[in-house]
Amino acid sequence: MNCCTHCGHPTTAQIPPGDDKLRQVCSACGNIHYENPKTICGALVIWQDQVLLCRRAIEPRYGYWTLPAGYMELNETMQQGAERETFEEAQAYIDTEQLYCLYDIPHIGQIYAIFKAKLQHGRFGAGTETLESRLFHKDDIPWEQLAFQSVRQTLHHYFADREQEHYPLHLETLYPTVNE
Ligand SMILES: [Zn+2]
Repeated sequence: MNCCTHCGHPTTAQIPPGDDKLRQVCSACGNIHYENPKTICGALVIWQDQVLLCRRAIEPRYGYWTLPAGYMELNETMQQGAERETFEEAQAYIDTEQLYCLYDIPHIGQIYAIFKAKLQHGRFGAGTETLESRLFHKDDIPWEQLAFQSVRQTLHHYFADREQEHYPLHLETLYPTVNE
């Protein structure tokens, strides 16, 4: 059961006047609970010719490798979010270079903003949500143990773009896959 965030009374699914989508509407105070996609900020962190990946210490996809990334907080920019998450998950400071991949993932209501960044001083660690962090050469990427399609896609783009030494922004929509 859903409850109103304002008054605590039960909500019901209705299409409000002038709207065309089902919303949870409070039966007592009429408050409409809009749900919108969440933004996830992360970083593709490079050191020399290696990329930094973190092995997840949390569900979903416990034990799988991911880019440092997480939900954007209020009062921060996407870039600040990416840098904060990189520090929280990989204990790494980075020099952010550019917005690199922007993924719409409509079936789970998420937007992924991945920045390309350089690792500072080659130093990193493992935060509380990370089992271990590691730098990977292209040939060592654990493709079968990547946590998310967004991670796979970003790494594919990076290694392809690196051949051309040109890193355009990739704006794409990701659709459901068998694994996720
Ligand atoms: Zn209410």
